[in-house]
Amino acid sequence: MTDDNGNLPVVALDPEYCRFIKEDGRQCGQRVGAGETVCFWHDPERTEEAQAARERGREVYRERLAARPRPCVPGEKAPEIAPDLEGLVQAAAWGVRAIIAGDLDAKQAGALFRGLDTLHRLVERQSLEAELIEARAALNDLKRAAEIHPRRRGR
Ligand SMILES: [Zn+2]
Repeated sequence: MTDDNGNLPVVALDPEYCRFIKEDGRQCGQRVGAGETVCFWHDPERTEEAQAARERGREVYRERLAARPRPCVPGEKAPEIAPDLEGLVQAAAWGVRAIIAGDLDAKQAGALFRGLDTLHRLVERQSLEAELIEARAALNDLKRAAEIHPRRRGR
C-alpha cells in the first residue's frame, strides 16, 4: 500500500517479527529469531526453497481435500421434505435408499434421521396445537350456547 507519491507508509516495525510488509500495509506475522530480520517465507536468499515449500503445502492440501469424505448428496439430488407426516415418510424412505446406495455414510445418515426426528416432533406439536385451538373454539361455542339457552335445574 503506497501513498499518493508511491511511498510505502512509515510503520513502526516490531523487531520480533519479520520485516516484510504485506500488500495490506501490515507487517508479516511470522516471528523471527534473534539476529534475523525476515522469516523463511520472505528471505530473498531462500526464495526458491520457500517456493518449493509452498508448492509442497499446496500438494498436501490437495491430497487432504481429496481424502476427505465426499460431501453429502449434492443439493439438486436432495429431496424436498414436506412438513407433514407423509413428507417425513417420503424423506425417511429416501434416506434408507441413499444409505443402501452408498450416497450417505453413517454420520450423514445419523444427521438425517435426527433431523427427521426433530421435524416429526415439530409436525406433531403443530398438529396438536391446531387441535387445541379447534377444541377451545368448540368449548367457547358450547359455553355461549349454554348462556343463551340455560338448562333449567331441578327437573
Ligand atoms: Zn515474513
